[in-house]
Amino acid sequence: MFHDRNSARELVAALPRGLYIDGAWRESSTGASFPVHDPADATVLTEVADASLDDAMDALTAAHATQDAWGATTSRFRAELLRRAFGRIIERTEDFAALISLEMGKPLAEARGEVAYGAEFLRWFSEQAAHLTGSYAPAPNGGYRIVTTKVPVGPSLLITPWNFPLAMATRKIGAALAAGCTCVVKPAPQTPLTLALLTQIFHELEVPAGVVNYVPTLDAAALSLALMSDARLRKVSFTGSTGVGSILLRQAADRVLRTSMELGGNGPFVVFDDADLDAAVDGAMLAKMRNAGESCVAANRFLVHSDIAEEFTVRLVRRFEGLVAGDAFDPASTVGPLIDEAQLAKVTDLVDDAVAQGARLRTGGKTFGGDGHFFQPTVLTDVPDTARLAYEEIFGPVAAITTFDTEEQALARANDTEYGLAGYVYTRDISRALRFAERLETGMVGVNRGLVSDPGGPFGGVKASGQGREGGATGIEEYLETKYLAVEM
Ligand code: ADP
Repeated sequence: MFHDRNSARELVAALPRGLYIDGAWRESSTGASFPVHDPADATVLTEVADASLDDAMDALTAAHATQDAWGATTSRFRAELLRRAFGRIIERTEDFAALISLEMGKPLAEARGEVAYGAEFLRWFSEQAAHLTGSYAPAPNGGYRIVTTKVPVGPSLLITPWNFPLAMATRKIGAALAAGCTCVVKPAPQTPLTLALLTQIFHELEVPAGVVNYVPTLDAAALSLALMSDARLRKVSFTGSTGVGSILLRQAADRVLRTSMELGGNGPFVVFDDADLDAAVDGAMLAKMRNAGESCVAANRFLVHSDIAEEFTVRLVRRFEGLVAGDAFDPASTVGPLIDEAQLAKVTDLVDDAVAQGARLRTGGKTFGGDGHFFQPTVLTDVPDTARLAYEEIFGPVAAITTFDTEEQALARANDTEYGLAGYVYTRDISRALRFAERLETGMVGVNRGLVSDPGGPFGGVKASGQGREGGATGIEEYLETKYLAVEM
């Protein structure tokens, strides 16, 4: 059924509010809970259990206890379970979309897009699970055989962010389960409800107890440290800020844990003078405004050839001014609020700082909407290199435009950042497109395209944007070890 805000709140009231450990829902051992807010008006949607360290340890105990049995299931069995979970999410698209809109704020149409994208990871990994292979070869000097096979890494801690509450979870859980790993999943405290529903679906599908454990908490730092200090945990996969990623990498070093890190970005969006401007503006809208800019692959810096910069800006401003920022459940809305007060304050500061340093405000620039965390879609030009938003991740609906004259200049500026997640290049010259894309220091490049995310493509970054790839042909490898048998003849 289609939801309005009221029926979505009823859905929330019917959701389990506890932790899910060893196949059962339960309260926190301390009885503690924390509120989940609606970013559109800052009201409390519900309270969810706040996992204590004892709870976290119970979750790891369960994950560890069932690891061998889960790892020994056939890959066909795991594939079928994931495929059924995919189907179940699709059946409940409207419920998932409503929860995502309610706790995260994105408009329903975008939330439905996330449901399709998020579910697709489970289908993708179900297909991969069924196709795991090994190898058999004679040793180079003869005498014995080199046999390789894949084995699961083991119990994994999966830490997810709030910007895509479903998709960032399924692309970790799907890969882990497909590979035969059990997991402890910690959602972002802003958005635990979507994952509660996903967990409920795993329960309904009789995913064995201990395979997926769900532990929301307000104290992510203590929980991750405790789990990562325990020899039974073998892997941590994290999506979030580079600052937290660095902490986790340091923690992982002590016990040499496997890690996958999807961290911050500072995406350059480069438009050459021969670009198809209509396509570039369409791409810019996607790359900048999807999720109100709250995406790690968002275009952060627009670098536009000086001959077309004004035309590009005028068109982009027109499109930004046509956006309707408002309630996620109003079909007219095309942009939602930012996630919370802190994010709103950060975006406001970044824009104020750029304007104070001489940037020209072409549209937007202000917060609005009472207690909700709304920021107007904003376009800035003449942004000086010293402005903070030129080198910090904005995570908001703000396009900062600067100009260039030569390809070398554009490349040098695009690469002048510690980050390297996604970049975008628009040009009709195929040689230039490939040359530029190859030299761009990012893990992903949109070539005449504003959206790179796809379960079939390897998502991930270089430099301070992380390590490892999620999805794509190699995504499952993040949760597998290659085991080699030397077999005497
Ligand atoms: P943001 O600032 O955008 O919320 P974070 O990197 O802080 O991004 O958060 C991403 C995820 O990491 C969330 O689930 C959050 O609870 C979790 N997190 C934050 N700090 C830590 C930490 N020290 N250890 C483990 N997880 C953390």
